[in-house]
Parts: sequence; C-alpha cells; structure tokens
Amino acid sequence: MDNQKTIAQEASLEGIGLHTGNKAKIVFKPGQVDSGINFVRVDLPGSPVIKAAVENVSVQAKSPRRTSLGKGSAEIHTIEHLMSVLFGLGIDNLIIEINNNEIPGMDGSGLDFIQAIKNAGIKELDSPRNYFVVREPIYAEEENASLVVLPFDGFKVSYTLNYEHTFLKLQFKSLIIDGVSFESEIAAARTFCLEDEAQELQQQGVGLGANYDNTLVFGKAGVIKNRLRFEDECIRHKMLDLLGDLNLLGQPIKGHIIALRSGHALNLKLVKKILQQKQKTISGGIAIGYQPVMGQRLEAVDIMKILPHRDPFLFVDRILELQPGKRAVGIKNVTINDYFFKGHFPQRPVMPGVLMLEAMAQVGGIMMLSPDENRGKLAFFMAINNVKFRKTVVPGDQLVFEVFAGKIKSKTGQVSGKAYVDGKVVVEADFMFALAETNES
Ligand code: ZN
Repeated sequence: MDNQKTIAQEASLEGIGLHTGNKAKIVFKPGQVDSGINFVRVDLPGSPVIKAAVENVSVQAKSPRRTSLGKGSAEIHTIEHLMSVLFGLGIDNLIIEINNNEIPGMDGSGLDFIQAIKNAGIKELDSPRNYFVVREPIYAEEENASLVVLPFDGFKVSYTLNYEHTFLKLQFKSLIIDGVSFESEIAAARTFCLEDEAQELQQQGVGLGANYDNTLVFGKAGVIKNRLRFEDECIRHKMLDLLGDLNLLGQPIKGHIIALRSGHALNLKLVKKILQQKQKTISGGIAIGYQPVMGQRLEAVDIMKILPHRDPFLFVDRILELQPGKRAVGIKNVTINDYFFKGHFPQRPVMPGVLMLEAMAQVGGIMMLSPDENRGKLAFFMAINNVKFRKTVVPGDQLVFEVFAGKIKSKTGQVSGKAYVDGKVVVEADFMFALAETNES
C-alpha cells in the first residue's frame, strides 16, 4: 500500500532568499491526511495560509525566474526547490511556517531541505496516496520549448536542455524518479545563470541574494569561482525545478514527462492543462454537464440490454462514457427513495458499502460484457480485493464510478474501479469476475 506521508516532528532552517536577499526562517510541521502542502506567513497579521496549488501562483511577469505564491498581499517567493524536495521524498501533507516573503535559497539546491525533512523523520499516514494517472498525452508549448506527459506506470522525466552558450549546449537526461534517484541524482544540483545576464537581472531586482556560492554563474571560461557537482549539473537543476512546479498539481502523478527547454512558466502551463484534463476525465472531477472524452453514452434501456439486472437491483442510472473492454464511467444518483434506506438506517440513511461495490461491479460488467464476443454472458464475482471505503454516501449524492479493465479473457475478467462524490474518492476496489455463458449458469 502506498500511503500518504508527512513528517514525524518539527524541523526548521534559515537563510537568505535568492531573489529578494531577505532573511527568513522556516519551520516544518506535520500535516493532516488530505491537507496538502500549506505555507503560513507567520509574520503577517492573521498569519495567512497559502496552499501550494497552481491557482495561487503569482503572475510570472511580476516575479521572473522563480515560482511564487500569492494570496491577497501575502506572497511567498521561490518555493520551487523546496517543493521539488517534497515531491521527491513523497511528502504529501506539510505545514511550512515562514517569517518573511521568500524561502531561503540555502546552497541553491535541495540538499538542506532534504536534510531537514530527514532529520524530522518521514511519517506514513493512514490513508492511501491519490495519484493522477495520465491516460492520454497532455502537452503545453511555447516558442522554442515544449512539454508533454505520456502514460507511464511510474514517474519518469526526460529532459533536453540547449542554450546558446559554450558550456550549456545540448544535454539530455532521462530518469525514473523515486526517493532514491531524486536524492542521488537531482537534489544536489544548484541553480545557475549566465555571466552576461547576471548584472541585468540584478538591476531588475532578480537574484539579489545570489552569489558565486549559491548560484553557478557561467562565464566564457566556465563556472566562475565554483566547481560543478555533476558535469551536467544544469540539466539536473532544470529537472529539479520542473518537479517543484509539478508539485503544484496537489497530488502525485503517474506519467512520463518529456521536456524540451522548459522553464517555470511552461511548467505551470502544463500543470494547468493537467488540471483541465482531470476535470474532463472525472477522476477528481465533475459529472454534472460531463462531456464524454471518448466512446459512447448509454441510457438505462441500453444498460439493460447488456446487464440482466433489474429494479431493485440495478444500481447504474447511466453510462457517461464507454470504451468497450477498456474503461467506463457510470453514475448513480442516490435518493432517499432508494429502497435500502428504509432499513439502512431510517434515522441516519447511509448507502450500504456492499451496494456501492455492487454498483461499481455493474459498471465494470457493462464495460466487460459490451464487446461483441462477450455479449449475453453473465459476470460472477470470483474475488474482490483492495477495498477501501473512504467516505459515507448519503441521499442527494451523485456517485460517479470510473472503472478500468485489467486482463479480460474469455472466461475471466479483472476490473479496478473508484467511486467519487463531488470529486472525492468514496470507495475503491479491484474485482475479479468469472464470465459465464447464460445457459451455463
Ligand atoms: Zn531553480
């Protein structure tokens, strides 16, 4: 089981911001299940909380060469290296108190943040991580830069860097990212700039806290007053930045990111694209006004041509999306008139968990039995595994079931599914079915 994580106890560190030059102290505190990463400006009246989410990102033009959050007049600059470390270590929930407007730059990499989190200890919480699983390519583009994310069982980044500078010509790196590879390959890579642009940037108020120790400055003869930690330290730092920005999605992701010269602005554009996609594909999304992404839509009469179930044991009102043998999305509007509420429980009506499983299995049945070769068969349970009930379902809720096929053979079928209410998972399970000819049963 891949559970959510936070830290075991508090930790703190302090330093100078790379861009403002302001001194700040940050304190890490454990976060609750499903709370995400939250920054707290403890130096401002009312200690405003800013969630690390793409909708809170400040306009890029106002604070170039970094990723910053803003809410009202409260701002927090240069969150990306810390956010990257949290992504790399798989920390889902954390409170970060800060007494100024910029995260300390430390040595320009993620090392000190890793150390602080590890000193605090990583604590597993009693709830599974909710991955965004990439099902189809999503992309974002700018002049001379591109980002694509493809389906992949795991998380991988392939980056291509190419600058008009002798020491920053073509570099390519591809890496499956987990806690171990992040720490050994990415975390220590420091931020960088070109000597030619350094002065101009500082005149614009960028990099006021930067020096030759915390920033690699590339001159005509190479790095000035410093030594590289990796021969390709710059591309590793670009990957570090990308992971930090991607963490503003607010949930871990399964996919393969292919990046060509991307920077903060484009990274954030991709995060927004992913969020749009998420709303379209239901996982965490909305069913009302839902437009099918692919496949067909079935009403009750069509459902009854595929499933033998009838009232009061048909628990699917409509199929919003059907890709026969692959994927289906179905809904059930839960109302007080549903007969089971009469006994479960009249004083406090709650939909029985086993009926939610039955309903999800019916959506799975429609998906499995809709290809021509399986038409007319019946599906019987052989096993139900990995069941998690996360929230109760009550009259007025709309249950949205999303099911995916595992191996479907002529006599057996595997299906995994999640049910959502208002975009939140209420139950998930894996099913194994026996497929039988009607006359065999
Ligand atoms: Zn950076």
